[in-house]
Amino acid sequence: ATMPPLLSAMANAGRHGVLIKSAVVMERLGQIDTVAYDKTGTLTEGRPRVLAVAPEPGFSESELLAIAAAVEHRSEHPIATAVVTAAAGLPLPDAYDFTSTPGRGVAATVAGRKVEVGAESRLCPSDAPPAAAADGATTVLVLVDGDPAGRIVLADEVRPDAPAAVAALARLTGTAPLLLTGDAPGPAAAVAAQVGIGAAHVHANLLPQQKSDAVRELGEGREGGAGAGPDRRKVLLIGDGVNDAPALAAAHTGIAMGRAGSDLALETADAIVVRDELAAVPRAVALSRRARRLVT
Ligand code: ADP
Ligand code: MG
Repeated sequence: ATMPPLLSAMANAGRHGVLIKSAVVMERLGQIDTVAYDKTGTLTEGRPRVLAVAPEPGFSESELLAIAAAVEHRSEHPIATAVVTAAAGLPLPDAYDFTSTPGRGVAATVAGRKVEVGAESRLCPSDAPPAAAADGATTVLVLVDGDPAGRIVLADEVRPDAPAAVAALARLTGTAPLLLTGDAPGPAAAVAAQVGIGAAHVHANLLPQQKSDAVRELGEGREGGAGAGPDRRKVLLIGDGVNDAPALAAAHTGIAMGRAGSDLALETADAIVVRDELAAVPRAVALSRRARRLVT
């Protein structure tokens, strides 16, 4: 017997590296007309390394790294893994009362003091412009009892197949791609330039809810209001983090990066890129379009 077109397209997409969760998703994927990308772990490898440790007076490099790693030890964020790796060999103090705020950072009590590690813009929103970092590098601030103890500078490689995949999806949709990231404008612009996303379409410093608001606004059209407006978009969001879950749910179609994607992103998404090849996404969109032509 021959399989119905949508089911055989699902099987095909799976072979190409995109696990589609239902036939309905397989059918809808071909309708998308705008693609929005998360940065860290989606356009980049999600395996940052620590480039530099810059303590404030009163802290040594290894003290700063050890207190930051004591807190990050409890987080699954790619930045946390990098900080813990960089602190290998250092004795880590115990950390208590750990909390994690997606899109912002982490905190815990270490040796009786409150240690926070996270985005400079979130921890010190009113402060002077952040210390200039190497172009495209991500900087996290470490606070001890509310005072800066230093900064940790990290870099993450753009996925080698990201520029081609972004271009292929832009060709399929005929619209400009967007970047939605919780990271700062500097690293966001650097990654956007490397993958071919225009500066006007980069949105940085977004909290998880703001990522999903951005997706929803596109879906509602410029005129606003559900169902209103001629410019209503069917947005495909590709992400990986806990911070992407609300946006994955708000999008017309949400796709999660599978290899290092958070459990919440994998559960929320409509489809999963299993081998972490972004190039599989345009193939899956093309398969959906072909199946739709056969069905109708
Ligand atoms: P993206 O949207 O690019 O995937 P996230 O929303 O996960 O980024 O993170 C946004 C920013 O929040 C990071 O660039 C970092 O500054 C901060 N942050 C989030 N989680 C952590 C963590 N565990 N440790 C330090 N900083 C963090
Ligand atoms: Mg991410």
